[in-house]
Amino acid sequence: MSELDFDLFVIGAGSGGVRAARMAAGFGARVAVAEDRYMGGTCVNVGCVPKKLYVYASEYGKGFSDARGFGWEGGKPTFHWNTLRDNKKTEISRLNAIYRNLLSGVEATLIDGRARIVDAHTVAVGERQYTAERILIATGGWPHIPSFPGSEHAITSNEIFDLEDFPRRLVVVGGGYIAVEFAGIFNGLGSQVTQLYRGPLFLRGFDPDIRAHAAREIAKSGVNLQFETNVTAIKRGSHGLQVELTDGSTIEADTVLYATGRKPNLQGLGLENVSVELKPDGTIAVDEHFSTSEPGIFALGDVTGGMELTPVALAEGMAFARRQFDRQNAAPEYDFIPTAVFCQPNIGTVGFTEDEARERFGDIVLYKSSFKPMKHTLSGRDERSFMKMIVDRESDRVVGVHMVGPDAGEIMQGIAIAMKAGATKAVFDNTIGIHPTAAEEFVTMR
Ligand code: FAD
Ligand code: NDP
Repeated sequence: MSELDFDLFVIGAGSGGVRAARMAAGFGARVAVAEDRYMGGTCVNVGCVPKKLYVYASEYGKGFSDARGFGWEGGKPTFHWNTLRDNKKTEISRLNAIYRNLLSGVEATLIDGRARIVDAHTVAVGERQYTAERILIATGGWPHIPSFPGSEHAITSNEIFDLEDFPRRLVVVGGGYIAVEFAGIFNGLGSQVTQLYRGPLFLRGFDPDIRAHAAREIAKSGVNLQFETNVTAIKRGSHGLQVELTDGSTIEADTVLYATGRKPNLQGLGLENVSVELKPDGTIAVDEHFSTSEPGIFALGDVTGGMELTPVALAEGMAFARRQFDRQNAAPEYDFIPTAVFCQPNIGTVGFTEDEARERFGDIVLYKSSFKPMKHTLSGRDERSFMKMIVDRESDRVVGVHMVGPDAGEIMQGIAIAMKAGATKAVFDNTIGIHPTAAEEFVTMR
């Protein structure tokens, strides 16, 4: 038996850290996990899970009026923020306890507190020091607010879930996942939402048709979208916050949410005590097996950059544990990672955008479809779905599928499996649809 305290010391009990710890312990390793804040990390506490609960809450906003076309009548329902927020808290506490049990169930040692690396095989938490054969950094990311006059008045996704008072007037800054999701959530819950983005069209990196369609639908749904603008200052006035913009205009708001990206969570981690190299964007550089430049120290998940998604951190945690503690030559596959933006309507996407596909394959065939979802024929809601499929002409392989519409995230998971399996357009065409669904459109596109 090694003289070191543990075979693996994991820093961070988020998506990647917990998965790596559980699997390593399952393979017989002696594992410790240090967590400074909350079991389950960003996803469980201030990310995917509470966000999706709030998306469900916000969908009721329009759901009640949609129901009238189907014969339902009733008084105008009212929304109580405190009920949603407090029910969410209860559910997250339940999940925190489950995560704690998952780790204690595999006999991993849980250490509450912020960990600091002392040397390549020693970690300190508070006054105590622990030694380990391997250290895994899975400390995730942290929201970043740029510096400008009054930036201290802005909040981030970390705070928005637990606001004391419901923001009647919300300004959201940013054009990425978090900005569009929260603009949609609070619009649906009844806030007056203005979303500001510095470029000509938000959701940079997504397919251009998807970005344009999403912008049209989100604007129709009631979010005041303003592109090519930015905040120059925020001041506290007698009627709330005064948000000053680059064109000299001012917007009044109760709350200003900054969703302008995340930075790796490395503060106080003790990296100055070891030779772990960082990439130019400040994330940790690792090889395909998550080794850093310091032998014995590994890193995975958001802290290493790449696609900041929970399933990616989980896949990395599994591959790491398999390779280090079960001698499997495991490495995650990063092609055709599906993803969804839970704006309203949802965006679901997998594979190459049109521009990427053209550059990579040259000759591509595009299939597009735009239609009113069947539900809205009676609800009267003015909302349209959009679907796009990109095919490499030479191989007939489907290389990109994109959608804006209800349940796009749910639909895209199945499409991603077909694409990972190398499905051609002919395979899609020969698949019989499920009627009546929106998803069947993907097997009838001609
Ligand atoms: P994290 O989950 O961030 O875990 C890191 C943990 O390390 C944290 O618990 C932190 O407290 C702890 N820690 C940090 N430093 C130390 C230290 N020195 N000592 C001890 N502990 C430490 N992804 C999706 O796939 N789908 C979604 O719908 C989705 N929605 C999101 C919504 C929001 C608002 C946000 C912010 C993110 C969302 N994500 C979503 C992204 C997802 O949450 C992350 O990709 C995922 O949590 C990354 O996992 P991780 O293990 O790398 O880090
Ligand atoms: P993103 O990187 O997705 O978006 C950041 C946005 O902020 C971009 O529109 C960017 O503009 C803009 N921005 C950056 N700096 C500034 C600045 N100084 N002033 C004004 N605007 C600025 O980050 P998010 O914070 O939205 O989300 C972080 C990550 O979390 C996502 O990338 C995603 O991986 C993950 N996530 C996943 C979700 C899901 O799976 N559904 C949901 C939420 C988060 P520009 O485009 O011009 O650079």
